[in-house]
Amino acid sequence: MIPATVSQLVADKFQQAQASESVVFKKLDAKNVKDPKSGMRYSVSLVPSLSEKPEFGQTAEGDDPLANSEPELTVLEDLDGSGDLKLVLNKYPVTENHSLLITNKFKNQLDALSPEELTTAYRLVCKMDNEDENKRHLVIYNSGPASGSSQFHKHLQLVEIPRNFSPFQDVLTNGKDHFLPNLKQEPLQDGKVSFAHFVLPLPEDADEVNEDLLAMCYFSLLQRTLTFFQDWLNETPDLVKSYNLLMTKNWICLVPRSAIKAKTLNVGFNALGYAGILLIKDQESFDKVIENPAVVNELLGECGFPNTEGVKPNEYNY
Ligand code: AMP
Repeated sequence: MIPATVSQLVADKFQQAQASESVVFKKLDAKNVKDPKSGMRYSVSLVPSLSEKPEFGQTAEGDDPLANSEPELTVLEDLDGSGDLKLVLNKYPVTENHSLLITNKFKNQLDALSPEELTTAYRLVCKMDNEDENKRHLVIYNSGPASGSSQFHKHLQLVEIPRNFSPFQDVLTNGKDHFLPNLKQEPLQDGKVSFAHFVLPLPEDADEVNEDLLAMCYFSLLQRTLTFFQDWLNETPDLVKSYNLLMTKNWICLVPRSAIKAKTLNVGFNALGYAGILLIKDQESFDKVIENPAVVNELLGECGFPNTEGVKPNEYNY
């Protein structure tokens, strides 16, 4: 069982880690902006401490910082009594209480999530949302070289959704019943945004969300995402499979990815960017995004694939 006070355990550990400087965290500014063209809203933070985070390929071969997590960062060695996952603070957080669910046995970040891993992450989100009704949580999984991932040891991440901010997937799924996609019914996709993404609403009652249901949601979206890569292989033969998974208590979303960083501005994205949560390391790029939020939809499109809303699926997709 995940402890009922898990949110408090994370918050206490984060405070201690900040006091002992075990986490590297400096947030200088944060603003919510709206792109008048697409109507997309973004939560934009200036976090220069992210410059110290090792990027993809920068961790020395044979070095596995997530396996050897620091005691000052480790919240629970065994998150739910199964021994599968530990809960550890992110050393380079994007926000307070940013934590990681890391497999205790080594697994590869390129591998699909297991139904057990997905379900534990979902249960953790529900527990944390219930513990403090003013907070909502988002789980992400960055998989593949263009996904914005930086560590090869399998891990999911858990962040608090900024207060007064709602990812666009909330609006997209609002009032919609849960369904599994098939040839007749594609996953939900918001036509306003530039990039392809596949979203399924989850049942409103969390007790109805069991391991089988989550596995069916994830694998059907994963199959949709993988066939998407097949469709693009003719045009870009050296394309490597990369995607982001995002999940709240209410919905699950997959985003196929083509690049980590935009060419036109010094901003990179992992799954958080595709919820509209932008983390920017330098003041100049931060100012540019605040001045012209419409640029973000272009950048997200550059690092993903074109939106396919309204395009009929074919027999390969499911
Ligand atoms: P990703 O970038 O999606 O692969 O997530 C890996 C996360 O691990 C990043 O957000 C890093 O900030 C975090 N990280 C890197 N080194 C450590 C470490 N030694 N302890 C805890 N977290 C770390």
